[in-house]
Amino acid sequence: MKIIMKFGGTSVGTGENIRHVAELVMQYAQKDYKIAVVVSALAGVTNSLIEVGCQAKKSNEKQIQIFTAELLKKHIEAISSAITSKAIQKEVTQFTEKTIAELEKVLTGICYVGELTPKSRDYVASFGERLSAPIVWGAIKDHKAETQCFTGKEAGIVTDSNFGEADPLMNFTTHLIRERLSPLLEHGVIPVVTGFIAANQDGVVTTVGRGGSDYTTTILGVALQANEVWIWTDVDGIMTTDPKIVATARMLPHLSYQEATEMAIFGAKAMHPRALGPVINENIPVRIRNTANPENQGTLITKEPIANAKEAVKAVAIIKDVAMLNVYGAALVGAPGSYAKVFDVLGKNNINVMMISAAASEANISMIIKRSLLGRAISNLEIALLERGGLISEVTVEDDVAVIAVMGAKMKGTLGVASRIFSIVARKGINIHMIAQGSSELNISFVVKEKDGTAVVQAIHEEFKLDKA
Ligand code: ADP
Ligand code: ASP
Ligand code: MG
Repeated sequence: MKIIMKFGGTSVGTGENIRHVAELVMQYAQKDYKIAVVVSALAGVTNSLIEVGCQAKKSNEKQIQIFTAELLKKHIEAISSAITSKAIQKEVTQFTEKTIAELEKVLTGICYVGELTPKSRDYVASFGERLSAPIVWGAIKDHKAETQCFTGKEAGIVTDSNFGEADPLMNFTTHLIRERLSPLLEHGVIPVVTGFIAANQDGVVTTVGRGGSDYTTTILGVALQANEVWIWTDVDGIMTTDPKIVATARMLPHLSYQEATEMAIFGAKAMHPRALGPVINENIPVRIRNTANPENQGTLITKEPIANAKEAVKAVAIIKDVAMLNVYGAALVGAPGSYAKVFDVLGKNNINVMMISAAASEANISMIIKRSLLGRAISNLEIALLERGGLISEVTVEDDVAVIAVMGAKMKGTLGVASRIFSIVARKGINIHMIAQGSSELNISFVVKEKDGTAVVQAIHEEFKLDKA
């Protein structure tokens, strides 16, 4: 069996957790599994790097030093409890000190230049995985196993230059990964690869999007022709909803690629939205498993949808940190290509539209975008289309909304699901601001005020009895 295993930030939060991860890897290595390991940054580290990168634009060297000293302390603590051999501890510690010294220089540079570009943001964000992977490597080596540590770039993951959301050049990447990692796996060496980070063709560091270690793992899974890809996390698998919102959320034992992708796109944080792209054509199964409960087989994601699903609705998710953008204009009506012009402006400015709804009168379009992109969206629409005589006459926003997505393959062709959903929301006295149903009919999404989101998710979970198999 050849398995690519990914351990998320929640699984490598502390030194003790990393020890446990190494033991888990060894259990399978001892059963003669061929294993490659992908590692995320320690929980919370990527967030803190991005935050300090943004602040570095206006902060001073002293603040940067305080941050890097704390980061060093956190990783040194992890090293000392994850690894017992003094020699390995020393090796990893020296590497960690060198890496953090490099980070300090980068942040100081940003501080002087006063600018954080998408390119330098990726470079800063890459340090989380660059610091975590060597500790996992050390903890595996501690078990006297043969292991080798790689950054995504060293492993051979080459992407386009879409910093922040890069995609792999899959043919080239497959060639390089096979060349570099396959011989190791064949000889029982365990490669440990940083998730999330890669490099473009010029060798400049890129990242594949937040939560992207899942994506790194499926890329490796395809390149190395794995039997399965396992994503270890802090919950038993993909659940009917976020267990942090509904305590009775139930694990879904089997999902199709299509269902799992839909869930990932619509907010089930357990999986990166583009992660299943590489494995679908190759038909490689993906399993989501719990590091703290390895006896559980987790959620298996394969090509086949489950024939015997009873309920039309299978899961419900909430996407926060979004905003609704409404564009009005009499000139939008009946003018061929007018919508295309609006989306072109957003597309050219790298603003992804997550959901669209248009009035039949055509005089307005409502869109959902990431809240952080709102300012950029409004200013660019204003420059391009709102000026005198332009296509649109007004842009309004609601920046305190959330999307609720209700999903299930059996929703297609089942009558009355939408009316049941909307009746529940109405009974709660909650207003719906926008509705969209994907043409796949796997999902109905709608927008409510973010403060009402949790109550809506809980009510839908209860109405469709999602806690019962
Ligand atoms: P990791 O660090 O392992 O990548 P994440 O925090 O990215 O972990 O994802 C796991 C978290 O996703 C869980 O702790 C859970 O709260 C959240 N989550 C949201 N929706 C779902 C869902 N439908 N199923 C499982 N987990 C979910
Ligand atoms: N560390 C990265 C992030 O927090 C990637 C990941 O965890 O998958 O987004
Ligand atoms: Mg994740």
